[in-house]
Amino acid sequence: MKIQELTENVHSSDVVIVEIDSFPLKRTTNILHAESLIQSIRSQASSIKIIAFGYDLVLLPREIAGADFTCSFEPENSIDQVVDSLITDTLDKNTMFKEPLTDFDLLPFPARNLVSDLAEHGGSLIHKANLAKSTLIQTSRGCLNTCSFCQRKGWQDRYLTHSVEYVIQEFKELKKSNYINVWICDDNFTFNLSRAKQILTQLAQNKISERMKISLSSWTNIDFEFLDLAKAANVSIISYGIE
Ligand code: SF4
Repeated sequence: MKIQELTENVHSSDVVIVEIDSFPLKRTTNILHAESLIQSIRSQASSIKIIAFGYDLVLLPREIAGADFTCSFEPENSIDQVVDSLITDTLDKNTMFKEPLTDFDLLPFPARNLVSDLAEHGGSLIHKANLAKSTLIQTSRGCLNTCSFCQRKGWQDRYLTHSVEYVIQEFKELKKSNYINVWICDDNFTFNLSRAKQILTQLAQNKISERMKISLSSWTNIDFEFLDLAKAANVSIISYGIE
């Protein structure tokens, strides 16, 4: 999105939601960018409502300057309530519904149609688009292994999974929308190896991923059958953690 477009969008919005992520790659830069984005939006539109959320705020709960609400917990069950109450000026942080998700399949598929073409092709405010159509998909959240160095344990102590049927249906949507680069952004896609194999088997057998390049993260607790299935399903990158 270009700066002018961003400014126009801000002025026509009631609420802006800014993510403050915590992945190690460029972590500090990402956090600083998010904070300065919030300051910039605040200076352009003083009455707009701003929500900050993200794993870094779960890991290190704090208020973000310029944000009307800082969400330091899993947001999906309460984000509608937060947005509505900010718009109607009825926000009461003490009665906020903070229940964590229990059924991961109750979440709708992400509204990828809201993501700009530029972002879907790897572009940004300072970089030209240079990728085939790309997206993320999350089939599970969390990992119950006990690596003492794992920062992910700081924001996610449960293991939630979408059913295999849900995942396959979402991949079919990706195929219909012509996504090529698909990053499975699970903390550890193979924590349940049998489930991971079921997903890859169905992707390959039904030719759902035949035009895709899939990337995923995995611990090394896998086997040769998994590697064969990954190859058949067009997985081109596996990022291993040697724990
Ligand atoms: S296997 Fe990976 S994701 Fe799971 S706890 Fe260890 S480092 Fe974290």
